[in-house]
Amino acid sequence: MAGSALGTSTTPDETESNPLLGLPFDDPDDVIRAAIAEASVPALLMSMVHMTGDMALLDELPGPYLLIAMDLQGAMSEPDKQKVRDRAFDVIREYRDRGCPPPFVPDAQQMRVMFDVMSAGTLTEEFVDYVAADLRFSDADQCGPVLASTPEQRGDFPVVVIGCGEAGLLAGIKLKAAGIPFTIVEKQSAVGGTWLANRYPGCRVDIANQYYAYSFEPTDHWTHYYSEQPEILRYLQDVAAKHDIAPHVRFNTAVTGAVWDEESATWRVTIRGADGRIEVLTSRALICAVGQFSNSVIPDIKGAGDFRGPSFHTADWRDDVDLDGKRVAVIGAGASGFQLVPAIADSTQQVDVYQRTPQWMAPNSIYHDAIPDGARWAIRHLPYYGRWLRFVSWWPIADALDEQVRIDPEWDNGGLSCSESNHAIREMFIAWMRVFCTDEEILAKVTPNYPPMGKRTLQDNGTWLTTLQRPDVELITDGIAEVTVDGVTTVDGVHRPADVLVWATGFDVNHQLGPINVRGLDGVELNAAWGDSAYAYLGVTVPGFPNLFCMYGPGTNAVNGASIIYNSECQMRYIMGCIDMVLAGEFGSAIPKVEVCDDYNRRSQERLRSMVYSHPAVTSSYYKNAAGGLPTLYGFRIFDYWRWTSRPDPGDYELRSAAGELA
Ligand code: NAP
Repeated sequence: MAGSALGTSTTPDETESNPLLGLPFDDPDDVIRAAIAEASVPALLMSMVHMTGDMALLDELPGPYLLIAMDLQGAMSEPDKQKVRDRAFDVIREYRDRGCPPPFVPDAQQMRVMFDVMSAGTLTEEFVDYVAADLRFSDADQCGPVLASTPEQRGDFPVVVIGCGEAGLLAGIKLKAAGIPFTIVEKQSAVGGTWLANRYPGCRVDIANQYYAYSFEPTDHWTHYYSEQPEILRYLQDVAAKHDIAPHVRFNTAVTGAVWDEESATWRVTIRGADGRIEVLTSRALICAVGQFSNSVIPDIKGAGDFRGPSFHTADWRDDVDLDGKRVAVIGAGASGFQLVPAIADSTQQVDVYQRTPQWMAPNSIYHDAIPDGARWAIRHLPYYGRWLRFVSWWPIADALDEQVRIDPEWDNGGLSCSESNHAIREMFIAWMRVFCTDEEILAKVTPNYPPMGKRTLQDNGTWLTTLQRPDVELITDGIAEVTVDGVTTVDGVHRPADVLVWATGFDVNHQLGPINVRGLDGVELNAAWGDSAYAYLGVTVPGFPNLFCMYGPGTNAVNGASIIYNSECQMRYIMGCIDMVLAGEFGSAIPKVEVCDDYNRRSQERLRSMVYSHPAVTSSYYKNAAGGLPTLYGFRIFDYWRWTSRPDPGDYELRSAAGELA
């Protein structure tokens, strides 16, 4: 699309090419040399096989003995990497000179060999289909289930989607592709969800963008490995424009409630426009894509509302407040505070950071790095290179840390770690912190006394600790006694004046619907049913609420290196399967069986109880609800989620006729 950041191309003939898999090129040798110098060597090696069809390259050339996500390279010696690069130059030139023919796609046997080399033997048989689908060796998975319903049935099945962030937008794209009429209701003025709301300085994604992106959109346009908020917002808005979703969205409009009418098997969705006008939409299904981060929290600290200067939450950033030369108090040192403080410290007079609990940071040297031009050229042009780079960014982390996050009941060291392998991570993280901080007092303050990964692990390139050591930044760990009209007083009686107060205090993830009143069968209200422990079968469907589908719903926050966008794609594929199941069977609605949902949630919470997130040493964490449960988290493997959400099992559902009879 012209003028968009998406699907950029230098090829004269796009019709023959697939921007997902690499676009033809005729660039001179020096461009190829630059690309090779900056490319991920393991991804380059695989792309060479796609360019040549020569599997023997994998025997001749060295491969990684370990994949490392954080630098998108394999653990390989420099001479070994050079051997691959040297050979790549000839291979790429020859491929160019042949006119960039369609790339080689391996057969099942060859694919296994490639997987084995690339993953250093870690990609075993059970994962083959899962990985092949993401690499796009087959389109089957990404297109969702083959639909059994007719276009006429789908065309007569209106759907309302709440929210137009990454999940709601995805829902719109897939519904549109299936010919299902839909309306997305979005309370903000534009597409983007949390990436529109959270525009505080320094805000960026902490999952590599190769993975934190829709699987069906090219990733050659990212300027950074981990992009800042404006670029992610632009991406979402470009995707929306490319798929022409805006005409289906009611912006500046809030859903206030929805009621299921069993007789007609429809949802009556009440919406309120910016002018206060109330309207009721009728739909056959309701997709709740509000996300877990739409309800910001300002804690109940004494005097919280008394501050006379500007005072706002990171999710309600005030562009009209100039921080230059100001004394800024930042309350909270989680993911948002951690990104904000280094981004403002250069221009403020003083930043006081109020940290209640330190957070763990994982070493990530490329966290703020731009993707060099050569590496971007490789993503754009080398066949399957971008897909393999995506693989390098997720395979080493997404399910790979399962052992390190499990609690060993025999392991006892006062709560500092939860197992031997978790302890090794602790030591690795501390060693990384010491690289950037020689101040023992600050080190003591920022070193958590709970096991690593117990709360959201932050990505760090040293910026946080470097900033905390500035003379004009103070890290305060004494508890806050009160907020006053002109600053913050800590329990030791010290008062620090401030001009601006920023609440980097997170979100109420346990009540994600906020004030939206959703009533299902027998008038049961969803917020009341969920209470403090929201639940949904596979995080998607809820007993008692026919044709209600959640995206990024309860029990879906996959906190160990997974991409929420990937999970949303799994959910949407499943939702399409559910809709198709209802339509093809000429039913009115599908409702998950209580016992199926209960069993899933019991197993889910049981597993989470064996994981570091529930460790008693993790005393404060937004993962935990008031009772210490973890209703918002996903504790199984992402691989399992991909499998379980491939299509619904009709046996898990009560399928009802339109008049409410059990079919
Ligand atoms: P958060 O992780 O919940 O952090 C909130 C901070 O406020 C914590 O430091 C917390 O301290 C502190 N706090 C809460 N109540 C307090 C009180 N009464 N007194 C003093 N301090 C208090 O929230 P967040 O930083 O907004 O991040 C939330 C999630 O959003 C992240 O985990 C992530 O999933 C997402 N996020 C992602 C990115 C990204 O990099 N892509 C950036 C921002 C946010 P305690 O730790 O002691 O509770």
